Amino acid sequence: MSQALVLFSGGQDSTTCLAWALERYARVETLGFDYGQRHRIELEVRKTTLAEIRAQFPQWREKLADDHVVDLSVLGQISETSLTRDVAIAYEASGLPNTFVPGRNLLFLNFAAAIAYRRGLDVLVGGMCETDFSGYPDCRDNTMKATQLSLSLGLDRKMTIETPLMWINKAETWALTQSLGGNALTELVIEHTHTCYQGVRDTRHAWGYGCGECPACALRKSGYETWAAEKK
Ligand code: ZN
Repeated sequence: MSQALVLFSGGQDSTTCLAWALERYARVETLGFDYGQRHRIELEVRKTTLAEIRAQFPQWREKLADDHVVDLSVLGQISETSLTRDVAIAYEASGLPNTFVPGRNLLFLNFAAAIAYRRGLDVLVGGMCETDFSGYPDCRDNTMKATQLSLSLGLDRKMTIETPLMWINKAETWALTQSLGGNALTELVIEHTHTCYQGVRDTRHAWGYGCGECPACALRKSGYETWAAEKK
């Protein structure tokens, strides 16, 4: 049976991917990157989210193994984005928000594959998604397929990239969360995961904590509201 490494940021998407992997694989490890995020809250909620999953889901506890955090602060040297510097989030002429670090996911996947290789894991799981508002080219399905091939060739070992969220929207992500872990997992995502670009955590909405205004909050909020309305 395959063993997986989940790219786990502590956000809604990667938490749902983690639950998805825990339902499928015999052993699941997690990986986060410290790339000088302006809001350290992302790295903090990773730990509490993992602890809550262990505490609330005994069927997953045995499978949820080591967590890795890799220092990629070097990304701060090659990007000029509002994730790492104190500038406002805006859309650039390319249509991408200035939160975009060019090719960031390619770098993440290469580091993930190197760790997976050494740990004997053969599946990488990530929350990349083509339906996302931002259209990051390094999250597209064809990019994932090409990366899977390049990693498998370059490592001379089959490395599979799974992206359970690739073709679903945010409302469907909430539905997937619910189907994987019921109300307990949905509540865990609302209470413990973090998505907001502004790092706001003092206001609790029905869909979780956040400023409610930034693109990440807007997406999470509208997805939740659509899902909640359909559920009734
Ligand atoms: Zn926000």
